Amino acid sequence: MDFDLPEDIRLMQATINKFVNQTLEPLSAQIEEDDAIPEDVVQSMREMGLFGMSVPEEYGGLGLPTLGECLVYEEISRVNSSVRMRFSTNNGIGSLGILYDGTPEQRERFLPSIASGEKTIAFALTEPDAGSDASAIRTSAVRDGDQFVLNGRKMFITNGAIADLITVLAVTDPDKGARGGITAFVVAKPTPGLEVGKLEKKMGLRGSGTAELIFEDCRVPVDNVIGGEEMIGRGFQTAMKVLDKGRLTLAASSVGMARKALELAVLYAKQRVQFGRPIGEFQLIQGMLAQMATEIYAGQTMVYRTAWQKDQGRPVRKEAAMSKLYCTEMLGRVCDSALQIHGGMGYMKEYAIERIYRDARVTRIYEGTSEIQKLVIAKELLRD
Ligand SMILES: Cc1cc2nc3c(=O)[nH]c(=O)nc-3n(C[C@H](O)[C@H](O)[C@H](O)COP(=O)(O)OP(=O)(O)OC[C@H]3O[C@@H](n4cnc5c(N)ncnc54)[C@H](O)[C@@H]3O)c2cc1C
Repeated sequence: MDFDLPEDIRLMQATINKFVNQTLEPLSAQIEEDDAIPEDVVQSMREMGLFGMSVPEEYGGLGLPTLGECLVYEEISRVNSSVRMRFSTNNGIGSLGILYDGTPEQRERFLPSIASGEKTIAFALTEPDAGSDASAIRTSAVRDGDQFVLNGRKMFITNGAIADLITVLAVTDPDKGARGGITAFVVAKPTPGLEVGKLEKKMGLRGSGTAELIFEDCRVPVDNVIGGEEMIGRGFQTAMKVLDKGRLTLAASSVGMARKALELAVLYAKQRVQFGRPIGEFQLIQGMLAQMATEIYAGQTMVYRTAWQKDQGRPVRKEAAMSKLYCTEMLGRVCDSALQIHGGMGYMKEYAIERIYRDARVTRIYEGTSEIQKLVIAKELLRD
């Protein structure tokens, strides 16, 4: 077995590291304060190709393998998870449906501007009454000649307010539901009948917008059904394939956040003196640090192994769900210990661990809660 990273991926990792340390790290507090990512940072990310990391080179992307993509997410999330979310929908949940199941014409039409970051694409599946049970969506798409008319509401949509394009899942045959009755569309903004609704005020992830989208007689050309006529009714399967990869990249991101939490905890443990000694000399603190490091190592190994497996073209549904489950739960434990090591200071906004603790919480919820990951894993086990 070869555990060395390929040369091109190591070079990419070094470039990202430099960007993270020199540009992002100093801006993290400002992003938190302003609840916005400075436009020049977004532009730098466009120039580095981050909006098209996983898009094949023929469409203007970097064509990185999954392993490379995971390493980028890990590094960026080390300092700011909101920054990751600014470009992750373009590489992941927003664009993958087009890449996996789009027609050649759709790939040509949409992917180059997504890869360059000129356009932002979001993914709209969740609705007020359909979260974990995504098959219960009600947004309807009724055919009228060479158009579909969309009506319904989507909620919690990452980058929903700023998106130029949205991959939208809607019901085209209520009798069939997820088994042949849900279709994936690409909807451009602005389109009459599509409005941005409520902008959520969140516990964390400041700098990453989460919006409601309202469709009222919104007309979308049949040409924008992902995969064309023959994919009408097959959008749910497209969405599930897309989420498999999203789970893995989110696991990678969780590893990055956990690494930062550990780094901060080690630093603090060396500096903070109590009972005449740095607290890092107390074995109860050492035990926490050792546990954190061990769990991060386990999570990181799961991510790299699963990414490698995906890059070999092998199925990863179970392993991606396991990675997401383990790494996000591990992140929760690591952040909790890191904050504990900071004592009262960890509860204060001037210490970065306070933000990381809040940013981390949602990883156990979005792109499928921990409970749903367990259901996915068990289903695969029982099928095997
Ligand atoms: C910040 C943020 C960004 C998001 N971005 C997007 C996005 O870009 N696009 C998008 O489409 N969605 C997005 N979401 C939605 C996200 O994927 C859902 O919130 C998530 O899938 C959970 O759905 P829910 O919130 O409706 O919770 P619910 O489904 O209502 O779950 C509530 C609780 O019940 C549990 N539960 C539900 N069913 C079962 C079961 N069968 N067995 C055991 N326990 C169960 C859940 O695990 C959870 O603990 C985002 C959410 C957040 C918070």
